[in-house]
Amino acid sequence: MREAALLLTLSLWCAAGVTAAGAQRAPAPARPPRSAPLANLRYELSFDSASAAERTIRVALSFDVAGPGPVLLSFPAWTPGAYEITNFARWVNNFAPTAGDRRLAWDKLDFDTWRVQPAGARSITVRYDYVADTLDNAMAWSRPDFVLFNGTNVLPFPEGRDFDFPATVTMKTQPGWLVATGMASGPAPGSYREGNYHDLVDKPFFVGRMDVDSMRIENRWHRLATYPAGAMSGAPRSLLWDQIGRMVPAMSAVFQETPWDTYTTLLIFTPDVGGGSALEHGNSHVGIYNPGFIGSPVLASITAHEIFHAWNVKRLRPHDLWPYEYDEEQETTWLWVSEGITDYYANLALVRGGIIDSVEFMAMTDQKIDEVAAAPPTALEDASLSTWIGPTDGTRYLYYPKGSLAGLLLDILIRDGSDNRRSLDDVLRETYRATYKKGRGFTGRDWWDAVARAAGGRSFAEFNARYIDGREPFPWSKVLPLAGMRLVTDTIREPTLGIATSQDSGAIVVREVAPGSVAAEAGVKVGDAVLALGDVAIENPNFGPAYRARFGRSEGDSLPIRVRRGTEIVTLSGTVRLGERLESRLAPAPNARGKAVRIRNGIVRGVTGR
Ligand SMILES: [Zn+2]
Repeated sequence: MREAALLLTLSLWCAAGVTAAGAQRAPAPARPPRSAPLANLRYELSFDSASAAERTIRVALSFDVAGPGPVLLSFPAWTPGAYEITNFARWVNNFAPTAGDRRLAWDKLDFDTWRVQPAGARSITVRYDYVADTLDNAMAWSRPDFVLFNGTNVLPFPEGRDFDFPATVTMKTQPGWLVATGMASGPAPGSYREGNYHDLVDKPFFVGRMDVDSMRIENRWHRLATYPAGAMSGAPRSLLWDQIGRMVPAMSAVFQETPWDTYTTLLIFTPDVGGGSALEHGNSHVGIYNPGFIGSPVLASITAHEIFHAWNVKRLRPHDLWPYEYDEEQETTWLWVSEGITDYYANLALVRGGIIDSVEFMAMTDQKIDEVAAAPPTALEDASLSTWIGPTDGTRYLYYPKGSLAGLLLDILIRDGSDNRRSLDDVLRETYRATYKKGRGFTGRDWWDAVARAAGGRSFAEFNARYIDGREPFPWSKVLPLAGMRLVTDTIREPTLGIATSQDSGAIVVREVAPGSVAAEAGVKVGDAVLALGDVAIENPNFGPAYRARFGRSEGDSLPIRVRRGTEIVTLSGTVRLGERLESRLAPAPNARGKAVRIRNGIVRGVTGR
């Protein structure tokens, strides 16, 4: 998962994360409920302009009952990769089980489990409607000519049974509409088949009018599906194809393997969101972006992040996420590796693939250093655990930038300990082979042993205790010189506003206004959606730099603040006030030579050795 909320890259006053509803379950009964065994599961889904008018996917699930007792059908509570409880059963309507012409009795066992009484029936069809009204890459969203849905939304599983059941999905739509998914084709036209439930719910669908094209990359088909049709064509489409064609080989080189048969990138561009976010799967990902992201480097960076997840988290996965469980939170201390190190490699893939240069790579790293500095000291393990409850102190997603920086530190220390003969690449590749390839998740022992081996036997127990499990500031001044770099701190003068914001349904919404600030004096209110500051639109993917360039030297000038308040657009009159802030940046150390320079070059080029 990766989100880019445009305004959050700004240093206004502080940036608050979005809040999420937690969920509580009743205490588990002594014996966990277990469905009658089911076989031959066939999910038939239909979506056309008639069901689109009701924002509904119609589903008919048919199966054979292979044993006694009631049938228990449960819907997932979350989608792996989006670490929050959503309870997809909320969107299930008109649940109706039948056996031939006979209606079957049903009730609910708990809030996301339906209990059907077969009453002797051997073959059952359950019909229901799923309301596709939520614009979120883990959920289902429809337009008059299109739907996005995830298997976790619409495909229930037999409660308490093995997830190793094969199943067929048939997608019915109207002539002329396309279907794009990473799901494996089944025997009949429009049918798909997977060997187990984990794979079944890991293959989201786009159905409707869209643009789809394909390219061979690393000897595999890569497919790009974009909605709405015409949204991304011509030069920006060619640019993204060129970038994907460069980033994938740089990632495959880390693992010396490309793990998919085909890979599908599924992108929605809509002004209904102000930022961009995306969610990974084993052979696809879904991204939802404001159209302002088309052609921007942020789109390339998030795309690289999601594709790298095909290795890191979808395959190389912490033991506490293996296997995925769908009916409750699955806490892990390892999101700093699964998300943070993925983010490190997303940027490495861009620089190693020649999409950005090493100066831009450093600038992306600088931003992460500033993000971490602005947050309360938080252990990476604690940030990983806490994401499920959405802490309100701004640390909910801290494991992205801080985990990425931990990756850089480890990379330098491993290269230093091995005379640049090995790198963090070796740790990922070795752990991938020793755990994922053996059908299991990695433990702390697997990870830290691989790190120590790569670093020539050096112990990382203290590093773990201080910087991963602990809250100590990262030891930049000790580690950066090993890679011929240093951290320079500048004092930046920039226009301040005095609001804390969060992203809500795509809008940048004011959550707090600092007393006496520019925003307070202009009359900005909590709940306003910020649209533009002066002539700089909030949707501009380069908002931060553009805003600073426009107003960074205009103390006392007028600053029109355009907001949406309820249904009205209001322009408030503010005044530019400059404030000071410390900003860190990585710079080459002037006297670096020999090994340190080899390490610095090795990181951005993806090479080891002398
Ligand atoms: Zn991610």
